[in-house]
Amino acid sequence: MRLRNIRGSQERILENPYTIQTDGTNGEDYKGLWRERIFQNSNPIHIEIGMGKGQFITQLAKENPNINFLGIEKYSSVLVRALDKRDALETDNLIFLRMDAENLTSYFAPDEIDKIYLNFSDPWPKDRHAKRRLTSTNFLALYDKILKKDGYLQFKTDNRPLFDFSLEQLEEAGWTQDEVSFDLHKNGPAPNNIMTEYEEKFYQLGNPICRFVAHRDMDN
Ligand code: SAM
Repeated sequence: MRLRNIRGSQERILENPYTIQTDGTNGEDYKGLWRERIFQNSNPIHIEIGMGKGQFITQLAKENPNINFLGIEKYSSVLVRALDKRDALETDNLIFLRMDAENLTSYFAPDEIDKIYLNFSDPWPKDRHAKRRLTSTNFLALYDKILKKDGYLQFKTDNRPLFDFSLEQLEEAGWTQDEVSFDLHKNGPAPNNIMTEYEEKFYQLGNPICRFVAHRDMDN
């Protein structure tokens, strides 16, 4: 994603009641406390990592008021573009986090998360950067720590090499694939699917969209 520095992004994030600016050191204020302290209910928590401009998670939150959603984005200048969508939402079940996914285990306790969404994650095409891909075994190990034992990971991309790599990494890390599609919208827009900003763009271009849903083996 091309990044433009948007003036005042940090300030807008800090003053918005539905956003949290993490700095890598304030994890103890949140870890294990999301339901009790932040959402103040016992509903499941679903997170999207790398939410970009937030279309997907905002629509999910609107359609599922009994689930708590956290949209995680590394850059303030991107997250700020999701704020207007958040402002138009009339429910309390969506919070945005300015955070690098590398810090997930500082902010979430074991078993705290019910589902993780990754949408059109950066491909990092060079081999030497493979560990930075959000579906690498490095990141799967972090998801393993925060996801409930019966929790799910869902990934969508139009990047076939990244998708193939991700399926291999799942296998290496001992995850089970529940659903794999190499052309999700083959017969027109798939039912029960919310398109992300990137998905809309690539769908219009005719690129096949891949999706998997996976979970860990209970015995692992
Ligand atoms: N999910 C959106 C969509 O499908 O339209 C945006 C896709 S964009 C290609 C990838 C997004 O992931 C960018 O906004 C980027 O800043 C964010 N991102 C990349 N690495 C990240 C990380 N380590 N932690 C959090 N967000 C990250």
